[in-house]
Amino acid sequence: MSHQARPEQVEAVVAKVKELGLRPETSLGEDRAVIGVIGGNAYAYREAFAHLPGIQEIVQITKPFKLASREWRPQDTVIDVGGVKIGGGEVVVMAGPCSVEGVEMLMETARHVAARGARILRGGAFKPRTSPYSFQGLGEEALKMMAEARAETGLKVITEVITPADVELVARYADVLQLGTRNMQNYALLQEAGRSGKPVMLKRGMSSTIEEWLLAAEYVLSQGNRNVILCERGIRTFETATRFTLDINAIPLVRELSHLPVVVDPSQGTGKWSLVGPVSLAAVAAGASGLLIEVHPHPDDALSDGAQSLDFETFDRLMEDLGRLTGALADRASLRR
Ligand code: PEP
Ligand code: MN
Repeated sequence: MSHQARPEQVEAVVAKVKELGLRPETSLGEDRAVIGVIGGNAYAYREAFAHLPGIQEIVQITKPFKLASREWRPQDTVIDVGGVKIGGGEVVVMAGPCSVEGVEMLMETARHVAARGARILRGGAFKPRTSPYSFQGLGEEALKMMAEARAETGLKVITEVITPADVELVARYADVLQLGTRNMQNYALLQEAGRSGKPVMLKRGMSSTIEEWLLAAEYVLSQGNRNVILCERGIRTFETATRFTLDINAIPLVRELSHLPVVVDPSQGTGKWSLVGPVSLAAVAAGASGLLIEVHPHPDDALSDGAQSLDFETFDRLMEDLGRLTGALADRASLRR
């Protein structure tokens, strides 16, 4: 719509879209509205809109993903997780154990990471383990512990949901639903998470292309949930020296293609604690809006992912380095202006 379009002109276009049996999705920007017309072959109906007042131009969204595309929403999406803003320029650190193993280790970790500047507590209650014989998580007990840690520290809570039937339960405790790499194409889960009303962090499938990842985000967005955070967590390559290969390219590329915030998980992405710090800095320098970092009071004793978990001391060093990096990036941005 043109930037002078009146609200009733926007409404008339929306009504026309519905009349044609298509789906309107309006994105309100600072100076103008963009009305997405969703439906097979929608662009063929463009003549039906030609005479309506207030329209500036009718363009075809060329990408297969629509609501996730920058073409539909030019400005960055900023997601408000109870006052913690993701995508708004600040780097949000989400830290905590891979799995919640008990209340004491969780509280100790939560207190520590909160004191060092993390804003969100991570911790798996339902673990999607490669082997059925590995620790599967403490389930609802762990969710209760996460809620207790939130009450004491003020950290928001992110945790994974692995089946559609658990979405309601997990959403009762979590501030953000994590959808894991092994479930990126579990479309029933994506849709159920989309209907939950909670922000969703969608990890990239370990063997998925960027287009498949954005189409998976589209499943959540098309349920009316606009709060999707994308998480690059490493992909499978021929390399075996690291657990996965973190795709740094994906960060600036996805930010070109999409308005959604991109965060990075350098813990799964490397599989090795000593690489987590340097790769975190690289991710932030490349434009990540946040980091998901595994921290454990005693990584050697962890029930899952100990080899990639930071102890408290290493986490502290990372937070100091991050502070210096974001300071330097801010200086660079002000020089450019
Ligand atoms: C995790 O965050 O602990 C996890 C299981 O992640 P992913 O789905 O990326 O393997
Ligand atoms: Mn893990």
